[in-house]
Amino acid sequence: MAKYVYTFGNGKAEGKADMKNLLGGKGANLAEMNLIGVPVPPGFTITTEVCTIYNEQGKDAAVAAIKPEVEKAVALVEELTGTKFGDKTNPCLVSVRSGARVSMPGMMDTVLNLGLNDLAVEGISLKSGNERFAWDSYRRFVQMYGDVVLGMKPESKEDIDPFEAIMESLKEENGIELDTDFSTDDLKKLVVQFKEAVLKVTGKSFPDDPWEQLWGAVCAVFDSWMNDRAIYYRKINGIPAEWGTAVNVQAMVFGNMGETSATGVAFSRDAGTGEDIFNGEYLINAQGEDVVAGIRTPQQITLEGSKRWAELAGVDEDLRKSHFPSLEETMPKIYAELNSVQEKLEDHYKDMQDLEFTIQDGKLWLLQTRNGKRTGAAMVKIAVDMLEQGIIDKKTALLRIEPNKLDELLHPVFDLEAMKRAVVLAKGLPASPGAATGQIVFFADEADKFKSSVLVRIETSPEDLEGMNIARGILTARGGMTSHAAVVARGMGKCCVSGAGTVRIDYRARTMTVAGKVLQEGDWISLNGSTGEVCEGKVDTKNPDIGGDFAKIMDLADEFTRMSVRTNADTPHDAQVARGFGAKGIGLCRTEHMFFEGERIKAMREMILAETIEEREKSLAKLLPYQRSDFEGIFEAMAGYGVTVRLLDPPLHEFVPHNKSAQEELANDMGITMDAILSKIEDLAEFNPMLGHRGCRLGITYPEITAMQARAIIEAALNLKAKGIDARPEIMIPLVGTIAELKNQATVIRDTAEEVFSEKGDRIDFLLGTMIEIPRAALTADLIAEEADFFSFGTNDLTQMTFGYSRDDAGKFLPIYLDKGILKNDPFQVLDQTGVGQLVKMGVEKGRSNKPKLKVGICGEHGGEPSSVMFCDSVGLDYVSCSPYRVPIARVAAALANLTKS
Ligand code: PEP
Ligand code: MG
Repeated sequence: MAKYVYTFGNGKAEGKADMKNLLGGKGANLAEMNLIGVPVPPGFTITTEVCTIYNEQGKDAAVAAIKPEVEKAVALVEELTGTKFGDKTNPCLVSVRSGARVSMPGMMDTVLNLGLNDLAVEGISLKSGNERFAWDSYRRFVQMYGDVVLGMKPESKEDIDPFEAIMESLKEENGIELDTDFSTDDLKKLVVQFKEAVLKVTGKSFPDDPWEQLWGAVCAVFDSWMNDRAIYYRKINGIPAEWGTAVNVQAMVFGNMGETSATGVAFSRDAGTGEDIFNGEYLINAQGEDVVAGIRTPQQITLEGSKRWAELAGVDEDLRKSHFPSLEETMPKIYAELNSVQEKLEDHYKDMQDLEFTIQDGKLWLLQTRNGKRTGAAMVKIAVDMLEQGIIDKKTALLRIEPNKLDELLHPVFDLEAMKRAVVLAKGLPASPGAATGQIVFFADEADKFKSSVLVRIETSPEDLEGMNIARGILTARGGMTSHAAVVARGMGKCCVSGAGTVRIDYRARTMTVAGKVLQEGDWISLNGSTGEVCEGKVDTKNPDIGGDFAKIMDLADEFTRMSVRTNADTPHDAQVARGFGAKGIGLCRTEHMFFEGERIKAMREMILAETIEEREKSLAKLLPYQRSDFEGIFEAMAGYGVTVRLLDPPLHEFVPHNKSAQEELANDMGITMDAILSKIEDLAEFNPMLGHRGCRLGITYPEITAMQARAIIEAALNLKAKGIDARPEIMIPLVGTIAELKNQATVIRDTAEEVFSEKGDRIDFLLGTMIEIPRAALTADLIAEEADFFSFGTNDLTQMTFGYSRDDAGKFLPIYLDKGILKNDPFQVLDQTGVGQLVKMGVEKGRSNKPKLKVGICGEHGGEPSSVMFCDSVGLDYVSCSPYRVPIARVAAALANLTKS
């Protein structure tokens, strides 16, 4: 017969730490603490499998499955505590708590003081010698049980809890303000009135039988697995509903039994900074919820912590000692015991522990321990410290790093205290992390109007690039995580909030309206690119700390990795930044971005609007030196490493001016009429530019563009070679769908290269490859490999074309798809391994079936997303490439992928 209930107590336990899937995190650790001799009140855990029975077969089936086991387990708790359920002199009281595999703080329900009734309350009163305490516990129990189990908690925030309403009216009657002002008689009255309210609302009397109470509470905890809060929490944290929650039933211990009782929470190391300092807070004569609720000021556990706290709070030493002494001072013996328990737990679990404890009448009890949640900085420091302290090995240290959390360390961040005070005006997508504070500008070419500006746009286009670079941050009302603004901002490591739908922008009036406020150009706003929050005014920022520990983790990652990590970079500056973060080469240099600065855009526009090849070649000749010098800068910054330069990709209409004054200026410059300009612009317009005249289709229609770019690349590399610099160009053709397209462009490139070699009297090795970003290319990768030295998966376009979701328009429906659970993740952020991933896998296999040594990488946005990086490792990619600020994240993800391979 299946076992559904696991008991623990008095140094024995049926479960243990590695049974989290069955017992939940809390249950497994309660069992383990017993086994290693930490004092834990006895109890038992009902397994997560019962939650599944409950959800699939209903309440009766679940109760029937566990009844005999639960009865035996309660008998054990009674025996170990010397108490009896419902007893008049020595009643057994228990807590009933949820506990899933991973902690879901505050999402599910808890019932405390269960077992109290009109008889048991007398018993507790006698036993504790404190009648008020007994009745206060009873009052709390009826209220909690009514709210949680009997469903009396109001649904909306506006409705008042019926129990709170009763308490309020009694306070008014008695002229008192605080709960603590109630007399014992008041509490007795409250219990009676609470029970009347239960009868009135539910039509049933409050259950006096402890067994009925227990079954009600157990089922309520199972029910709470499916409440809205828990469902939402699971959704945002990717926790499957099938896991279910366990239920922990445990003998109550009381921290509110008088001055020798207390309750608190503690951490074996600092969860904010990672420092190896035991710390935490406690309250004398209080229950757990009082520490969290903030009604009383919690005191520090250690003397050192207390002194630190006093300094920050502006409390002088006399006041600290008299009103806020540490546990170390008030209960030195218990403190010493707690300190050794925390050391023991950390030694045992080999990770920073977050503990909950209660002191009942001078005896310490541990109610919970778990690996503590921590900031990115603390994550790095704790892993490195524990490695250096010999507690964990290198692999474990690396496994402690959540790659995405490193992001916090790479960008300026808002001061947490300042953020608490900030007025949040709107929330958009956290498109590019970091913190930005600046004065609003609405036009990219005015970004330098203020020393610190924030560019606010409905959306951005490549024309805005320079302004985006100047601005401290970028806010757009439209666009998703792969919108232009988002991709470019991430590349720049610039804070960006995109798709803030509640922001209304009026370019003419130069205003943005949000949350009922009208902000003008020049007004200050602050963007939190890590949360998507848009705040009013200036919020203070601080620099991230990427000190020695960070570098140590990166070195460790390199020790264990198979794939290498490159960067997507379009400028020498970005290339340098990425190299600083450890990028080993460039996986994608998008050449189009180089055409927007200063004079270049003019030559570019002339080239686009040219009527004849001769005219086009003339303008291309003007562009050549610009491109060559850009490439020289980039190759130099990445000397010794491969640099993949992609030839022109976007549709040409993106480069022509769309406002009248710029069109007039261009007509003047070119000496042609406005009509001629307008008709050319009209010619370039397309219904669906993303699937239109772009990518290699441009180079095939205008081979002279390809020739100019190939020339610039080869000349740049030869110029550097002449200076002794090791440039390693890799020329990449975009948007190839057939081998014939690739062959066509390869011929132009090879011919051009030969021309340059003979002109210069020198040669250089270069690679010639293609992006695989059209499904047909993946399907015919064996043929395409014939002509390619390398493949780079462009998973942005591959996702677009595999799903048939326009990259530019998906923002309109993707949020709804995510909300309705039609998609688990935005496929433009997290690689769709089931669909798009299969094309990647097939592309690699087919490509290598023809050319076993074919070098294969990825340069879509997914190249910096940890789960996608893991997938890339599993299908044998040689490298991933991502924006400079994601390089460290990808390095760790790549190492983890290799480490966790079975
Ligand atoms: C891609 O499609 O994945 C890619 C890297 O190219 P782009 O985003 O420039 O289209
Ligand atoms: Mg692409």
